Amino acid sequence: MGKKKKEKKDKKDKKKVQPEQVVASPAASAAVSVRDLLRVGPGFDLSQIDPRRIVAGPEDKELARAEVAALEPEVTALQERLYAESKGSGKRRLLVVLQGMDTSGKGGAAKAIDRVSEPIGLRMANFGSPTKEELRHHYLWRIEKALPPVGSIGVFDRSHYEDVLIVRVRNLVPEDVWSGRYDEINAWEKKLSDGGLVFLKCMLHISKAEQQERLLARLVEPDKNWKYNPGDVDERMLWDQYQEAYQVALTQCSTEYAPWYVIPADRKWHRDWLLTRLVAETLREMDPQYPAIDYDVETEIGRVKAS
Ligand code: AMP
Ligand code: MG
Repeated sequence: MGKKKKEKKDKKDKKKVQPEQVVASPAASAAVSVRDLLRVGPGFDLSQIDPRRIVAGPEDKELARAEVAALEPEVTALQERLYAESKGSGKRRLLVVLQGMDTSGKGGAAKAIDRVSEPIGLRMANFGSPTKEELRHHYLWRIEKALPPVGSIGVFDRSHYEDVLIVRVRNLVPEDVWSGRYDEINAWEKKLSDGGLVFLKCMLHISKAEQQERLLARLVEPDKNWKYNPGDVDERMLWDQYQEAYQVALTQCSTEYAPWYVIPADRKWHRDWLLTRLVAETLREMDPQYPAIDYDVETEIGRVKAS
């Protein structure tokens, strides 16, 4: 780290609120249903969503981070119960779908989920341009293969929605093909949902100005160069077409069984707070149960002691 950069960091660290000064999970923000606030419903208009908005919860970065950390024990406990449930007759699993423009923070959001979860029972997957083999199959083929097993949490960095986003914007297949995909995706998600898969579909919504800053940061900071892809600028030039494609996907495919949530994502710490809250709320509602045991505890205690 250069001297100037270090000085700046030290200054920043000094300003940071120390953990003991932070009161995590105040009752006020714990009571809010983030799912109700972010769900895409009738009349939804993406262009009316401000990517910098603080929807609920702390307006302070350190406080928001402390609240996220405070959710960890609960999330891991629920995750363990979900896993245990599957050892009985449980069929449930959770899939977090992350979508958003380049630099919207899908990777960072996946890390936020990782931070509050146990590695066992967590399955990450990302989807780039289809390989030659993938192109020979139906577009849902590679997605199905990456679904989390029963009892686990899956996190998708991009998903089958690319097949109605970049594919639509770039005309990678004819219109009569992609236009049929919204209904097809809904039917596919319904089938999975009936089988016990719970969807948590999140669009990370950033502003065009924020994307420019983040792309520039990837160029200016040498250790971020690897994240930069010259092709991102070509997609950026189609910003409005992408917003339109998102608007259609969000409204056509926000269903009762697999709703979409739009997360204002210009502030990373607020994005992570909202996302972890969404995960926690969803797991709480799933309320996974330990499986019934098929032995008598007292008898077994006796047997173990005598052994
Ligand atoms: P990244 O997430 O930065 O690794 O970029 C992956 C790229 O692959 C993005 O530009 C996506 O839009 C693109 N991509 C993902 N899925 C598809 C798909 N089904 N068809 C075409 N391009 C895709
Ligand atoms: Mg990229």
